[in-house]
Amino acid sequence: MLSVLDLFRVGMGPSSSHTVGPMRIAKRFLREASKTGFLSQAARVEVELQGSLALTGVGHGTDKAVILGLLGYDPETADPDAAEAAFHSTIREKSLALYNGPGVAFSAVKDILYRGDLVPELHPNGMALRLFADADASEPIFERVYYSTGGGFIASARRLSRPAKGDVVDDRVRSPHAFGSAAELLSLCDQSGLSIRRLMLVNEDQRRAREDTLAQLDHITDTMLACIDRGLDTEGILPGGLEVKRRAPELYRKLKTGAGVNEREALFDWLNVYAMAVNEENAAGGRVVTAPTNGAAGILPAVLRHYCCDDDGVPVRAKTQRFLLVAGGIGLLYKQRASISGAEMGCQGEVGVACSMAAGGLAAVWGATPVQCLAAAEIGMEHNLGLTCDPVGGLVQVPCIERNAIGTVKAVNAARLALHQEGQGKVSLDQVIETMRQTGLDMSSKYKETSQGGLAVNVVAC
Ligand code: SF4
Repeated sequence: MLSVLDLFRVGMGPSSSHTVGPMRIAKRFLREASKTGFLSQAARVEVELQGSLALTGVGHGTDKAVILGLLGYDPETADPDAAEAAFHSTIREKSLALYNGPGVAFSAVKDILYRGDLVPELHPNGMALRLFADADASEPIFERVYYSTGGGFIASARRLSRPAKGDVVDDRVRSPHAFGSAAELLSLCDQSGLSIRRLMLVNEDQRRAREDTLAQLDHITDTMLACIDRGLDTEGILPGGLEVKRRAPELYRKLKTGAGVNEREALFDWLNVYAMAVNEENAAGGRVVTAPTNGAAGILPAVLRHYCCDDDGVPVRAKTQRFLLVAGGIGLLYKQRASISGAEMGCQGEVGVACSMAAGGLAAVWGATPVQCLAAAEIGMEHNLGLTCDPVGGLVQVPCIERNAIGTVKAVNAARLALHQEGQGKVSLDQVIETMRQTGLDMSSKYKETSQGGLAVNVVAC
């Protein structure tokens, strides 16, 4: 079992798989090189981005993420402004101080290779890193291959090629209520008499003190809410050249003045504005929480802000903790049984999963039974099956920002539908997760974070 806190990570935009993961990989590579003694001998570093990382790497800011990781930045703690300045100084100076190692000459054009023609077998987001003892040497002294497997998770080639291993996480902990499927989760709730929230908490207790888990969940909530606030407050054009205007601040101003407040549809406006605020921040490289990914980071915060906070936006901790624990439990099912990577599953694996998690979490906040919570999660995914990933210009902006707004409204509706039914309905959550997985495998690579199909080819990016 993974921890729910593995799923919700504080990181930088615009992409968990193409920004957060590569940054973590670069730093991990240098730690391994240091352990083996090769780092101190390095005179050059080379990073080869493979598959989807190469095809949408520039738009997703992968080059910047790699450089920041090599400089020793962590996505969790990096100050976006300081990181931006360090990145530009590296490019300008053409030199890079390797984390815990020597300074080397560095050219982003020469030393970051984009191999979109290489489709790695283990996962479409491959990254090979090499150290050379001499600036002109062709044979590396140290080389490793890693994969960014979605949601900021990373895996080494060695680990991913061994069944039952996978991502680099602390998997030594035995959860007392370990579950590998939604059916097992329901059965454990039934046998123990625990709600999903309590069961998740008992599992987390094996990893850390209860108060630490709750404090970390509160930190996640606060980071989500701070992101919404920044997004509601920041005007301007998003970076990347698509000239996409931030829309959340203007809509928020309208809503605050009370325009349209009596319209029944005002609910949609509030959900939309919160989701767009987060995704506009994400597109600008701001601080967001992977929920479960950066591209889909707006849905959970929007639902949390609207349904788990008071009228002044102050979080009601009992509600926010319940929401995140249940949504996190559902997210773990997708992570463990399928994938949350757009490069593997298309957008159904990002926005679809976030919608499903939010629906289940909201149903729990509304007092649903475990069966109803998982029914909500099932409905949240069922109507996102087949959703493709085709970001225009390789940027996490169109369709991603609006797609989060739509996904938020869908999640609330899914929770409503589930509350009005007794049992789980015709389709189980396990069946819909397996359907998502099979659909993702069958989907053409054009629609899996490569920007080679769909809107990405029909909308001219310049
Ligand atoms: S289309 Fe969906 S999966 Fe693709 S980058 Fe945008 S949010 Fe992520």
